[in-house]
Amino acid sequence: MDLIFRNVRIADGKPLTDVAVHNGKVAIISPGITVRARQEVQGNGNVLMPAFVEGHLHLEKAYVMHRKVNRTGTLKEAIAVTAELKPMLTREDILERSTQVLRSLVQAGTTHVRAHAEFDPSQGFTGFDVVLELRKKFRDMIDIQVVAFPQEGIFKLPGMKHMMFAAMEKGADVVGGIPYNDRSPFEHIDYVFSLAKQFGKDIDFHQDFADTAENMTIEYLARKTIKEGYEGRVCVGHLTSLGAVAAEQRVGIISLIRDAGISVMCLPATDLHLGARGDSHNVRRSLTPVRALRDGGVNVCLATNNIRNAFTPYGTGDLLNIAQLAMPACHLGGADDQATVLGMLTTNPAKALGLDNYGLETGKNADLVLVDTQSVAGVILDLPARLMVLKRGKIVATSNYNRSIAF
Ligand SMILES: [Zn+2]
Repeated sequence: MDLIFRNVRIADGKPLTDVAVHNGKVAIISPGITVRARQEVQGNGNVLMPAFVEGHLHLEKAYVMHRKVNRTGTLKEAIAVTAELKPMLTREDILERSTQVLRSLVQAGTTHVRAHAEFDPSQGFTGFDVVLELRKKFRDMIDIQVVAFPQEGIFKLPGMKHMMFAAMEKGADVVGGIPYNDRSPFEHIDYVFSLAKQFGKDIDFHQDFADTAENMTIEYLARKTIKEGYEGRVCVGHLTSLGAVAAEQRVGIISLIRDAGISVMCLPATDLHLGARGDSHNVRRSLTPVRALRDGGVNVCLATNNIRNAFTPYGTGDLLNIAQLAMPACHLGGADDQATVLGMLTTNPAKALGLDNYGLETGKNADLVLVDTQSVAGVILDLPARLMVLKRGKIVATSNYNRSIAF
């Protein structure tokens, strides 16, 4: 064996176990494994779990918040200041900041990320090409799925349709879209589907990002998904407008989303920052209704979206911070609800991203994280140190702490 974890906890209420890793896979899960390994790690009862999956992130525009400030805190100004910045960003600058993000992700125990990489006539493919380069450069550290993302729209910009096609030819993994930022959301959705079918790729939309329920296109998108036979292959991020829909009316929409197999990414760090800026008092949360979606059978995930820019002027790339934000903001703090939160950072986004071989099971890829807490339920509460991170069986990050206390 290449590596054996001794005495780790993989489930609460069950005895500690050993986990052996060989050739990049989980080879044996059993107490008291007798075979030897080249490396043995003493788990001391700490939790060993599948690594985190970041389902929605923008690499190229991280860490630029001080370059141009979003003074109103609105989505409109965030898009405007970022659009001004983008043509000035150089390859080297994007490479350096994106690498910094990837380092933070891996250190925090994330071994998969879906990156929405954008391009448009004003900036060309500079940032998009960097993300493709990073996908290759860091493939042994973290799997990067690259989304061809038209942040500034498709039909309202001359040449963008051609750029979308070119981005897919360059090797994008997923076709992205943003129906609310184009000439016609329906035309936009239809075009994204036609491109995705042409290249045989999945789809990921920035969808219905507003405080109100007007102009939602999620129902159109869900029906289109079913019509095109794309069930299970479409994700949406934000979907905050659905939070403005009354409960009785919401039920039917959620059933439709479930039937279409659309995964929903809640992005609380961004949505809480940009949402409800017009409210003078008793400010709305402006989040997608995570509990109702979950209870309605929809695959719901929590993701980071942005790190320290005009959209989200904070963040570390640690999904446990997002969980801590989501628990009070989405009313996921109750004991029963808490039990569903870890899945929103792991198995749910793995399903959304269509990951094969994910999970702490024999034969699956050894994408694992050893965390400094003694219970699985404690992972989202304790913000435990990520002691060791494995990518396909290889150690890609460790943390060492020396702690003392006087009592
Ligand atoms: Zn986004």
